[in-house]
Amino acid sequence: MLPFIRSDLAQLVSYTPHPGGDAGRPAEGIASIIDRLDTNESPFDLPEDLKQKLGWSVQQELESNRYPDGGHAALKRAIAQYATESASLPAAIVPDQISVSSGSDELIRSLLIATCLGGEGGILVADPTFSMYAITARTLGVPVVSVGRSEVTFETNLQAAQAALEAPTSPPIRAVFVVHPNSPTGNSLTAAEINWLRQLPQQILAVIDEAYFEFSGKTLLAELPQHPNWVILRTFSKAFRLAAYRVGYAIAHPELAATLEKIRLPYNLPSVSQTAAALTLAHRQELLTAIPLILKERDRLLTTLSQLSAWHIWPSTANFLFMRLKSGSDADLERCFTALRRQGTLVRKTCGGLRVTVGTPEENERTLARLTQMSM
Ligand SMILES: *Cc1c(COP(=O)(O)O)cnc(C)c1O
Repeated sequence: MLPFIRSDLAQLVSYTPHPGGDAGRPAEGIASIIDRLDTNESPFDLPEDLKQKLGWSVQQELESNRYPDGGHAALKRAIAQYATESASLPAAIVPDQISVSSGSDELIRSLLIATCLGGEGGILVADPTFSMYAITARTLGVPVVSVGRSEVTFETNLQAAQAALEAPTSPPIRAVFVVHPNSPTGNSLTAAEINWLRQLPQQILAVIDEAYFEFSGKTLLAELPQHPNWVILRTFSKAFRLAAYRVGYAIAHPELAATLEKIRLPYNLPSVSQTAAALTLAHRQELLTAIPLILKERDRLLTTLSQLSAWHIWPSTANFLFMRLKSGSDADLERCFTALRRQGTLVRKTCGGLRVTVGTPEENERTLARLTQMSM
């Protein structure tokens, strides 16, 4: 390794954006139709009229020689309004409570910089969970403490989590990352987990990642005013169908939001992404009509797959399902993953199981047929 590169980066394994192959396509391209069910995106592109509006705006309004709006003022106002409405809050969320970023991935990094960098703290996660928290922490030299989950319900082992917080570690744990509902396992936070977050000491930040909020309908936003040590992350990459544009946002105490604004790069969000996000918010009623269909398809997948004797499949409050072989080795799982891929169904092999995104009805039909026919 080049001698000027930090030695701890040699061991770092980066996030695999498309486990099924480059740009979502299998390397050998054996199948002609590829079902990309490996990254939990919406299976539906933007409707044609919205694409045209966006295209028109790029052609007629966007000055490509000018830097984007570095303050995201209009977008923050629209997000504040949507967030308030999404949780029927008594008091409105204000733009000062919001920070917008290039995907919520950027916010995860900003939060680590704001809380832990420079040897000030470590983070706590409960595995299996979204791998970006630990990966991003390691890129910054921030220590990661992992605790387990129930093998039955995937609820966090709260005793282990509390013990980890109380252990005299140096540096101390400064941030706890939870996903509501969790990825890859699809479970929402339980009452016990939420109670545990409520009693966290004020010097520990709770990062509550609600990337799948529009599917689960569950949010902790209403309690945010009572908890200055909570931050809620959301994204336009899933239900809002904008994964290509990379827009995420945080809702937090104004002081934390201001700190996130201080840390981020000045022009972190391209003009076209800001326009796209504002446009989807303006048309949210139309876009979110796809949610009930996706949930219906998820439940159909769950019901049918539950009848397969080889698999244990868990219920989910998100737009994906997690399944494990009841018995068998990792090689058996790899064989299933590869067989699906060869037929054109890309899923994510992770945490000893498969995470399958709910696709269009046609895609789900193929997923069901392929898993049903698979000889174990
Ligand atoms: C998909 C996802 C995100 C969204 O990331 P973006 O960078 O906004 O695309 C965040 N958190 C979790 C747990 C996710 O699954």
